[in-house]
Amino acid sequence: MEPPIERYEPAAGIRLYRFGVRAFPGLETMVHLILAPGFAVLVDTGSGFGDSNDDLQAGLGLIASRFGEPSRVEDLTHILVSHGHIDHFGGLSHLRERCTAHVVLHELDLPVVTRYAERLEITAGRLEAFLKRAGASQATRTGLLEMYRITKGLIRGAAVDTVVEGGQGEIGPLRLTHYPGHCPGLMTVRVGGILLTSDLVLPRTSPHQSPEELAPYTGLDHYLASLRRLRREPPPRLALGGHEEPMLDLHARIDEIEQLHARRLAEVLEFLKEEHTLSEISFELFGPVQGYHVLLALEEAGAHTEFLLQRGYVGGVNASALGESTCGAARYRRLPTRGWSGLPPSPEL
Ligand SMILES: [Zn+2]
Ligand SMILES: [Zn+2]
Repeated sequence: MEPPIERYEPAAGIRLYRFGVRAFPGLETMVHLILAPGFAVLVDTGSGFGDSNDDLQAGLGLIASRFGEPSRVEDLTHILVSHGHIDHFGGLSHLRERCTAHVVLHELDLPVVTRYAERLEITAGRLEAFLKRAGASQATRTGLLEMYRITKGLIRGAAVDTVVEGGQGEIGPLRLTHYPGHCPGLMTVRVGGILLTSDLVLPRTSPHQSPEELAPYTGLDHYLASLRRLRREPPPRLALGGHEEPMLDLHARIDEIEQLHARRLAEVLEFLKEEHTLSEISFELFGPVQGYHVLLALEEAGAHTEFLLQRGYVGGVNASALGESTCGAARYRRLPTRGWSGLPPSPEL
């Protein structure tokens, strides 16, 4: 059976095609192709793992045969990587060997895409320290780090031709805007009445958060500030995320995600009436989880606790939490000096 291809006309003379690729078992990533006079821009490449490259080439071929478009890999003029997560850029090295398209990326994700192996090591080291301070057992830490290295080790980095610096960029009719938080260099793409939100806003999943202590320009602080900035933009006719189905009401979805984080922050504060480690906070928020989800849950709990620590709602109660030692698990507790009355406004970041 042929995979479904979505087709849109975001503005006169511009066509936008969208289809999913199997990035990892259980994870479909959406790729977008925008065709305008002189431009054939692919936004995101899938993971390069398993069936992903085949799905990508089949989808592009299908657009050519079904719609008569110049959409094959060799026709691409540009490849835009929306952000430096492997389910979005992992297929880049495969594509680079098959076309001469100009590769565009935000500067804050340049190190992870172009010097991938080195970044893997740096992040693994930070992750190890994070897991120790989170109170994860030796066995959990070893298991998670092994999983991290195996998954990420499947991917190769690739060269980039143009970096977008600062907050804005463009490729022909595409307007790129930088929104850090979920990933340091995430960019949305506006073309006519359509906004590609990448993993900044998704229709069903709340985009993953990790603490800024693991990577600068991530953290809940940056993410919520980005959501608020996006909320001030005129709403698009249609929003298309990096996963899942199209979104008709972007602002309503932003409100839902903000409310979810507000509830989660309140939950952490309530739980920290007694002192706890990040592992315990993670269990309180997400219950028992398995495999790679243990790491994702710890990172999410870490992002929320960090947000509260930064604003003085919560304090560390032992040397490890106060940054004086990295030997043991850090423990946190709610501070009585600051009352919680809902999500505080984010600073302009
Ligand atoms: Zn992502
Ligand atoms: Zn993603």
